[in-house]
Amino acid sequence: MKTTIAKTFSLFAVTLLTTGSIFTQFAFSQENARAIEFPDIPGYLTLKCDLHMHTVFSDGNVWPNIRVQEALRDGLDAISITDHLEYQPKKNDVSPSDFNRSYQLASEAAENTDLLVINGAEITRSMPPGHSNALFLKDANLLNVDDPMEAFKEAKKQGAFVFWNHPHWTSQQPSGVATLTEMQIELIQEGLISGIEIFNNSTYSVEALKIAKDYNLTVTGNSDIHGLIDWQFEVSEGGHRPVTLVFASEKSKKAMKEAMENRQTAVWFGNTLVGDARFVGPLVKSSLEIIPQGKSLVQDIEIENHSDADFILENLSDYTLHNKASVFVAKAHETTRIQVKTLEAMDTFDLKFRVLNAYTAPDYHPEITLTVVY
Ligand code: ZN
Repeated sequence: MKTTIAKTFSLFAVTLLTTGSIFTQFAFSQENARAIEFPDIPGYLTLKCDLHMHTVFSDGNVWPNIRVQEALRDGLDAISITDHLEYQPKKNDVSPSDFNRSYQLASEAAENTDLLVINGAEITRSMPPGHSNALFLKDANLLNVDDPMEAFKEAKKQGAFVFWNHPHWTSQQPSGVATLTEMQIELIQEGLISGIEIFNNSTYSVEALKIAKDYNLTVTGNSDIHGLIDWQFEVSEGGHRPVTLVFASEKSKKAMKEAMENRQTAVWFGNTLVGDARFVGPLVKSSLEIIPQGKSLVQDIEIENHSDADFILENLSDYTLHNKASVFVAKAHETTRIQVKTLEAMDTFDLKFRVLNAYTAPDYHPEITLTVVY
């Protein structure tokens, strides 16, 4: 989010609205200004994805093309509309004779854009097994069967990637504490569930992160949006939807699925990043660019943050800071100046930080090393 740019464009809007072509330019720039931004990391693209959302084809309130428009505005790389298979409250108004229909309509709406639209569906059962999203389906209709185990087996037959949704949802887990049942352990052991949603809409589950660690599951975090992204997440106030960051070798459905099967994900919600240790540290590191300034016994350094996260950094370096306490914030899309008391003027040295708003396991923060070279 670059709210300052958004505001600047709002000011310009009054004068620019006079001609159609300039209006188009303005609209485009404004879309970019709200895009969710994280850099790629060495060897991988950072794909920004929302893998849980609804339309009027189940209990959502919008047509599928709106989900595409929202995703384009947010600069997402991939979405999956995951309408409920077994819960169709609008069936008298929108006849869901084909459970692939919302996917087809979204795909048409995304033609001529580079947004990946993934065929998904939500297997919607009481506990156990609760709700699960099946992604990369070939035919969602075949999952609409009585026996839940058969639905999971059909998903696997189609090569789908399946994750357990909102395991901490208080309607199905009144304590809010994600807890595995025997049935879910069986689903995991049989390879029928490979992921878990640790963040859903506005709620986080550290217990789900623990389960992901214990059972080698891929973490996801998604909007589960039923209404409008802008209203739910107060985008005009600087808010953003939660996203699953998928670290993939290329931008394709195939590479994305492979990455998810290999647990190459992280979740971005509020100002927090949670995910696999192999990727979260590198993501923070890739976000922060070191720009050396003056060289003396107190070295002057600028840290430019190329991401949407305000990183809360705890200094673990061999040196103390001259202008900051040991914990400070490197704000999103801003430059933060630090002065490092190295006691001698050095051409190169390492800065080490613990990243307090990122987690690779419950209560475990990644540590990064940034090398300063003058
Ligand atoms: Zn849902």
